[in-house]
Amino acid sequence: MLPFKLIYHERYDLNLGAHVFPSHKYRLIAGELVKRGLAAEEDFLRPEPASDKDILRVHTPEWMNKLKTGSLTVTDIMKLEVPYSAELVEAFWLAAGGTIKAAQTALRDGFGCNLGGGFHHAYPDHGEGFCAIHDVAVAIRRMQADGAIKRAMVVDTDVHHGNGTAAIFREDDSVYTLSIHQENNYPDYKPPSTVDLSMEDGVEDEEYLRELLPAVEQGLKSFEPDMVFYLGGADPHHEDQLGGLSLTVEGLKARDAGVFEAARKRKIPVVTTMAGGYARRVEDTVQIHLNTIVAAKEVAEQFPP
Ligand SMILES: [Zn+2]
Repeated sequence: MLPFKLIYHERYDLNLGAHVFPSHKYRLIAGELVKRGLAAEEDFLRPEPASDKDILRVHTPEWMNKLKTGSLTVTDIMKLEVPYSAELVEAFWLAAGGTIKAAQTALRDGFGCNLGGGFHHAYPDHGEGFCAIHDVAVAIRRMQADGAIKRAMVVDTDVHHGNGTAAIFREDDSVYTLSIHQENNYPDYKPPSTVDLSMEDGVEDEEYLRELLPAVEQGLKSFEPDMVFYLGGADPHHEDQLGGLSLTVEGLKARDAGVFEAARKRKIPVVTTMAGGYARRVEDTVQIHLNTIVAAKEVAEQFPP
């Protein structure tokens, strides 16, 4: 049994069919965790969809209604880069509910892991890059509204810049945003995060970790967040089709463990979300995401509450 909960719903699948985004990866990750004996049935919790009230703390009523009624414009769909369906909308509402639930359980357990989410390209009034609803921002706003936390830190390790996150929290001193990403990659316009670590093409494990881990330490020390929201992108991997960095599977696990250790040593609860992953072989994407859960377990055991 794991010392924290895994939040998962079989309807996390974005229903994309043949698409570079392997939207069935969530099911594969959940299945693999059980198959390998890393998790048992009782470790899983099923989220409710986020309420509209939760969504509206981040998104505009216009954007929410477009999604709910299927009235996206051609431009909306082009920016979103995924085909619209009722299943897609349900999946985004569930992912946001999942990150909320992960945050609630993290308060109690030290970690809370959403086996989905990390949709960091979503803006308040439109979607971009496969992201329609910003689950992490929705969860931060909900936790703040409940009085459960005041200050949150977002550590975003997806290979693509966290543009939606940066835009949403740009004027907000209660949220510290850190993005480590490949400079020469999507999105073109990168609004400033609190800290942006821009990597050159082809950066490998050692250089990446040398940039990331001291910056995380520094952020935790200076900002003293009540909770860390971690986006564990699988797409800095050297075999990724949409990424141009050169991290190994081992390097990515060391990344996860390093961030978790830094937070855990300060007794700061950590919420994990999956974000992107487009490895040529979907097995690699699954392994990298699965390792995030293994890293959380190892760090939780190494530093008991
Ligand atoms: Zn990405």
